[in-house]
Amino acid sequence: MDVDELYQTIILDHYREKHHSGLRDPHDVEVHHVNPSCGDELTLRVHLAGGNVEDVSYHAEGCSISQASTSIMTDLLIGRDVQDALAMHDEFLHVMQSKGEETPDEDRFEDAIAFAGVAKFPARVKCALLGWSAVRDAILQAQAKEQQQ
Ligand code: ZN
Repeated sequence: MDVDELYQTIILDHYREKHHSGLRDPHDVEVHHVNPSCGDELTLRVHLAGGNVEDVSYHAEGCSISQASTSIMTDLLIGRDVQDALAMHDEFLHVMQSKGEETPDEDRFEDAIAFAGVAKFPARVKCALLGWSAVRDAILQAQAKEQQQ
C-alpha cells in the first residue's frame, strides 16, 4: 500500500464511521459553517471547561473529505488544552496552505496527516478546513463568553 492509498483509507474510515458525531449538551457555543464551493455544511458545538476543550460535537453533511476531517479534528482536540487546540488549528491550516510542500509531524497530527495529500488539490482544501475553521470560531466565541462572565 503506498502513502496515497493509506491516506485515502484513513479518510474513508472516518467518513464511514464518524467519531464524536451528533450534537451534545452541555455546550457553550454553536456555530454553522458552510463551504459553498462543494456544498458541505456543518453545525458544530463546543464546550470548554477548566482551560480544556471538554467536548466538540457536530452534525455534518457533505463530501467525504469535509466529514472525515471534522471527525479527525474531534479526535485530536477533545480533551486538549484550549491554547494548544488553537495552535493545532494554525498548524493544520499552514499544512493545508502549503500546496503539499509541508510534511506534518505524524506524532502530533495522527490521522490528520492523511490531509497532507489533499493539500495538493486547491479545490478540496476548503473541504478539509471546514471543521477546523468552525471549531476555531466556536472556541474563540466561547472564550469571549467566559470573559464576559
Ligand atoms: Zn467538500
